Amino acid sequence: MDKTDIRSLNFAQLSEQTEALGLPKFRTNQIFSWLHNKGVEDFSEMSDLPKSLRDKLSERYLISKCVVDSKLVSKIDGTVKYLFRFGENEFVECVVMKYKYGYSCCISTQLGCKMGCKFCASAIGGFERNLSAGEMLSEIYAAQKDLNIKISHIVLMGTGEPLDNFDNCMRFLELVTDERGLNVSIRHISLSTCGIVPKIYELADKRLGLTLSVSLHAPNDELRSQTMPVNSKWNISELLKACKYYTEVTSRRISFEYAMIDGFNDSEKCAYELAKKLGGMLCHINLIPVNNVRENNFVKSNGENIKNFIKILESKNLTVTVRRTLGSDINASCGQLRARKKQAY
Ligand code: SAH
Repeated sequence: MDKTDIRSLNFAQLSEQTEALGLPKFRTNQIFSWLHNKGVEDFSEMSDLPKSLRDKLSERYLISKCVVDSKLVSKIDGTVKYLFRFGENEFVECVVMKYKYGYSCCISTQLGCKMGCKFCASAIGGFERNLSAGEMLSEIYAAQKDLNIKISHIVLMGTGEPLDNFDNCMRFLELVTDERGLNVSIRHISLSTCGIVPKIYELADKRLGLTLSVSLHAPNDELRSQTMPVNSKWNISELLKACKYYTEVTSRRISFEYAMIDGFNDSEKCAYELAKKLGGMLCHINLIPVNNVRENNFVKSNGENIKNFIKILESKNLTVTVRRTLGSDINASCGQLRARKKQAY
């Protein structure tokens, strides 16, 4: 019999299961707290449960967990990049950044990715499988334990396309914001998507209040389709329509991610075209000088082009930031650590 991942159960489901085992209500609270406050990885650690109950639980359930396979720490700003291992040979990346307001954790939502964006290292090895809610949580718990800190902010921006793993990501959000668990404010969570349009509508209708980041990376379909295959399924106009719906329903502004690639999407013409497309929207533009990935030949835009680009967007009343590069000395960019590890196998 396959064991159920107990860390992926929400409180109501856990209550149902403990009730079915004939346990009193307070046991649900105890187990939930061990799983989500103390982040335990084995039933034997649940020291206030009778041994017989711990044995019974371990017969029926497993606790998803990951271990630190390798870890890079930035000497510049303390950013930590983890390669976590699930089971024997499944690897995910996770990054912890320290900000004035607390610790932010960037988690992976899938093993690999189906989306195939040309500039992204996560696309290299293809897609393996979705991560469960419990596995996503275990990335955070493993980082907290290793660093002896509490994570207060979360970004779903590591390997994977969260809206392609919608149900597990929704369960993750439910669990990570549960007051009886880690209790992270939903306002402190961002989800980044390459633009799975129907799922943006579905997310909007949930009215959760998290920040939506949209990886736009080009001002027109011709350019966007060259780097992002998803654009041939849902083009920019369909994507922006869904984004407008999201802002209308949630009153949250969208953050558009735009990787600046030298000679590709960083011209003045692109800036004007982008400003025209996004004009009047409740949004923010986040420029990311593209990280060079060994397997492709994209080069980041030079400082002058970036400055010019910003000037044009600002002259059109758009708010723009350039993504702060944290951990630049360990900047194995998005998915690269994992790609290296897979090649070694
Ligand atoms: N699938 C989601 C989240 C994962 S990628 C998405 O597409 O949004 C997180 C962000 O990093 C996305 O904006 C992605 O486009 C960007 N990214 C990926 N590779 C990059 C690279 N080499 N340089 C700069 N940004 C990159």
